[in-house]
Amino acid sequence: MKRTLKFSLGLANTNKIEALKELSNEYKKAVNYFLQILSSENKHILRESEVKSFNSSLSYRYKQCAKRQAMKIWKSWRRNKKKGQIPEFDGALILDHRFIKVEKAKNSSFDYWVRIAILKKGYPILIPIKSYDYANNYFDNWKLVNGGRLSREDDNWFLLLTFEKETPPKKKEGKIIGIDIGIKKLMATSEKEFYGKDIERLMDKIQKKQQGSKAFKRAIKERDYYVNKTAKALSLNNLKAIVMENIKNIKRNTKKERRLRKEFRSKFQKWTYPLLFSRINQLCEINGVHFFTIDPAWTSQTCNKCGFVHELNRCGEIFLCRNCGYTQDADYNASKNILKTYLAQQSMVAGNIKANNGIFVH
Ligand SMILES: [Zn+2]
Repeated sequence: MKRTLKFSLGLANTNKIEALKELSNEYKKAVNYFLQILSSENKHILRESEVKSFNSSLSYRYKQCAKRQAMKIWKSWRRNKKKGQIPEFDGALILDHRFIKVEKAKNSSFDYWVRIAILKKGYPILIPIKSYDYANNYFDNWKLVNGGRLSREDDNWFLLLTFEKETPPKKKEGKIIGIDIGIKKLMATSEKEFYGKDIERLMDKIQKKQQGSKAFKRAIKERDYYVNKTAKALSLNNLKAIVMENIKNIKRNTKKERRLRKEFRSKFQKWTYPLLFSRINQLCEINGVHFFTIDPAWTSQTCNKCGFVHELNRCGEIFLCRNCGYTQDADYNASKNILKTYLAQQSMVAGNIKANNGIFVH
């Protein structure tokens, strides 16, 4: 398994920042030039002569690296069905071990040195970086993958480093739980546990800020931090598997699916869901817990007791079945349905379809 972490290069002095800018500008020109050749001739591969003859202060090695990145961008653009404009380079340099090396700093106030090859051949620059709580575990217990991704946001430079570790085997014993993600509370589990009650307040805070402002970005950061913290609070010790709804699997064609999508969108705030989804997925990976997904299917409108589906069953945080009168916390009811749907699918796979399974009424 792999994880990518971001480090600030803010400790670099002006000369070094200048060198990074020069490198990045030349590199960007090269990638965009190669992209142009690929698109105008509509081909997959660049000839060596085309790479060599590009007039630039980049070393031949760097040109090769830019060529590889251009071909990668081009390839994924061609694969993408919704083709827009000819792709453009986003400015993040993907560099291998020949250009970036990370070394532990000895007896200094920094934690690591990053050695980066710049335009001036044979004169790499050294930039100190500081680790942080979350990253220490990766430096200590994971293996650092050579190379890195160099990126710029406004005037700030960052280095993305990737760490890897062998994926632990999946547990064979333990409970399976369903998790529902909501607005009032981030997670409700089929064990009737609730997590993240501050999420609504944090989302409100974001909405009150002007989009793109510093305060807005700070509020987003705060929310993301909270989502991570909440995911981590989930106890995985006694679990074998977690089941969640997969937001990607909603199609848009039929009327029913459109309604489903709308329900899903309002229920799962679209920015929170993917982050929490991937955090839980990662936590499962590390802890040897299976991570299963189901297609969203009326989980918040279905009565977990009698299987009756109606949109009026749910009223805000309260679920009240119009058929049998069952009442319960709406997110808890949904999480039970998520688990139930998964288990029903499993028993169908096993050729053991139980009649009147409840959730398949519509
Ligand atoms: Zn009912």
